[in-house]
Amino acid sequence: MKTITIAIDGYSSTGKSTLAKQLAKHLNYIYVDTGAMYRAVTLFAMQNGYIDYDFFDKQTLINSVPSIKLNFKFNAELGFAEMYLNDVNVEKEIRTIEVSNFVSRVAEISQVRAKLVEQQQEMGKNKAIVMDGRDIGTVVFPDAELKIFMTASPETRAQRRYDELQAKGDDVTYEEVLKNVEERDYIDTHRDDSPLVIANDAIEIDNSYLDKEEQFKAVLELVEEVMNS
Ligand code: C5P
Repeated sequence: MKTITIAIDGYSSTGKSTLAKQLAKHLNYIYVDTGAMYRAVTLFAMQNGYIDYDFFDKQTLINSVPSIKLNFKFNAELGFAEMYLNDVNVEKEIRTIEVSNFVSRVAEISQVRAKLVEQQQEMGKNKAIVMDGRDIGTVVFPDAELKIFMTASPETRAQRRYDELQAKGDDVTYEEVLKNVEERDYIDTHRDDSPLVIANDAIEIDNSYLDKEEQFKAVLELVEEVMNS
């Protein structure tokens, strides 16, 4: 059996990380959530007052990029790696609606992307990795043996994200979540640097009507095909 790289891209809240975690666990591969890295940089910008609803001091953020340290540390209890920003666990803080509202504007900045892509490529240099994001199959690992592109209707995705946030006690409305999902999709697909596009050799999965187990089984069949080819 071949050791491979699995790239999972797609729109916001399509369940990329759920699928990636299931695959990584099953295959005993590393799982990397690249969205968490962009979210951590966004949190850094918020904490330092570089971004708010009415302004964005991009240049100061760009100048600070070398001082931003990002790490993942595996949490055995949770079964996945948590995000650390300058040695502080920020796993909870990066999942708020405020971070979601700013993250796509931070992710447009080429200097931010360059730093994160370099770190992602380093993490995947020995393969045996499942990475999810927006540019994994196109920019980070264009030679990945398996590329999955996930879609679902904006309403389905917003409902899922809304349920998750509600369960965590986040005080948001469904309309706010839907607006955020649509805005992020727009910025992510229209930016100049590494826009969200489907790679030529990616397999598209629309999971509007698939449950998690059906989806996992379907993708696992693809994985096994590639590994045995
Ligand atoms: O995956 P998640 O929804 O947590 O990603 C948050 C945001 O980070 C995305 O909306 C996108 O703007 C950015 N992102 C990106 N490239 C990646 C992963 C995430 O631009 N590889």
